[in-house]
Amino acid sequence: MNEALHMLLNSPVLRQAARAAQTVWVNPAYAPAAQALASVPFTRADVEDAAARLDRFAPLIKARFPETAAQNGRIESPLTPIPQMQRVLAGDAAEFSGSLYLKRDSDLPVAGSVKARGGIYEVLKHTEELALKHGLLGVGDSYEKLLCDDCRAFFSKYTIQVGSTGNLGLSIGIMSAALGYRAIVHMSADAREWKKALLRRHGVTVVEYPSDYSAAVSSGRKLSEQDPMSYFVDDENSESLFLGYAVAAGRLRMQLLEQGVLVDAAHPLFVYIPCGVGGAAGGITFGLKLLFGDAVHTFFVEPTQAPCMLLGMATGLLSGICVQDAGLSGQTHADGLAVGRPSGLVGGVMRELLSGIFTVQDAQLFDFLRDCMRTEGLFLEPSACAAFAGPARLWTYADTRAYIERRNLSEHMQNSTHIVWATGGGLVPQSVREEYLQTYL
Ligand SMILES: *Cc1c(COP(=O)(O)O)cnc(C)c1O
Repeated sequence: MNEALHMLLNSPVLRQAARAAQTVWVNPAYAPAAQALASVPFTRADVEDAAARLDRFAPLIKARFPETAAQNGRIESPLTPIPQMQRVLAGDAAEFSGSLYLKRDSDLPVAGSVKARGGIYEVLKHTEELALKHGLLGVGDSYEKLLCDDCRAFFSKYTIQVGSTGNLGLSIGIMSAALGYRAIVHMSADAREWKKALLRRHGVTVVEYPSDYSAAVSSGRKLSEQDPMSYFVDDENSESLFLGYAVAAGRLRMQLLEQGVLVDAAHPLFVYIPCGVGGAAGGITFGLKLLFGDAVHTFFVEPTQAPCMLLGMATGLLSGICVQDAGLSGQTHADGLAVGRPSGLVGGVMRELLSGIFTVQDAQLFDFLRDCMRTEGLFLEPSACAAFAGPARLWTYADTRAYIERRNLSEHMQNSTHIVWATGGGLVPQSVREEYLQTYL
């Protein structure tokens, strides 16, 4: 810890982060993709394996969740140009050049957030393992068979548990319940009431904690370990979650191709992703780096009171530091990002892959939320709005301008594409949407 405090005092960015000021950290260890990927414990084959597993489950998803029928059981979201919102953001940065898009995971079917990628993938992977081990699937069987009454009775003997600030619980809970599992979600104090109520309507057991996310996770982990029939989805360490998220990159590449958006050295792609514990943001980044290499530049965005990944990566301590160590509260209206300690697994994988991390004040989230609703008619939850801070401020910091200069990107910025990864909002009830739209901090 002494080492970390020393760094807090010596680095201007860490000092600003500890003061809860809006800032950006540009990763000094950022390396060419080929070099960076060589030291990562995951490969392209791992991501392809995850994508193939999701395809095997597509008939089941399609049958159980008819809203996915149009996409043949693929849980996927639109990629939408948002020129009006770009004009609003450019108000703060006259230099904004290139095109702005929204990756609308807020509208992912089933769970209404990015957690519909990793969370649902992990439940399905566990299900496939159980089904193969216990002979529920024969060679050539469609996975739709797993919806039968006998299978449901079989799964009802098993429990799936998870710790969550809300959205991961929704995705794991809804999918587990849909297959017949007993599901238990350990919710931190940050979780919104409507998310707990929705889970209970799905028959999920919700255990509430007065404490933060890390405490909910460790309690859930402990309780699950005591039950041999229970499986724990471990957001802080899960490789399955990570790979489920990484599948997003191949899907995005298809959408960019369909929309005629070029990505190469002369057409750089900038992606901005809200970061909590890091699994979603990190998994997507890994997938993008595999496919686009040095042409893609990924930035995370965290709340000023909960910049856990910034602290972990900038100090090199990863999960060895939490936001409270820097004197921050960890409390934020961005409930999906209310995480005090980053995933060590993800922080390690991101070491040379991530371009940088912005921090954003809560008050700005609600301004972005209103702007996006007014200009594009699209509703996002506060956590998702964090990503707008990236394109709004890429051109305003000396450090990010230097990043662009150093990589000889300046001349290509008029051909750049910027993607705000909208991580959630689809399931937010109307009354809560109105409350958000009228929140001024
Ligand atoms: C969970 C979540 C995130 C961040 O994902 P991590 O895996 O925790 O980094 C971002 N936005 C929303 C809406 C989320 O629910």
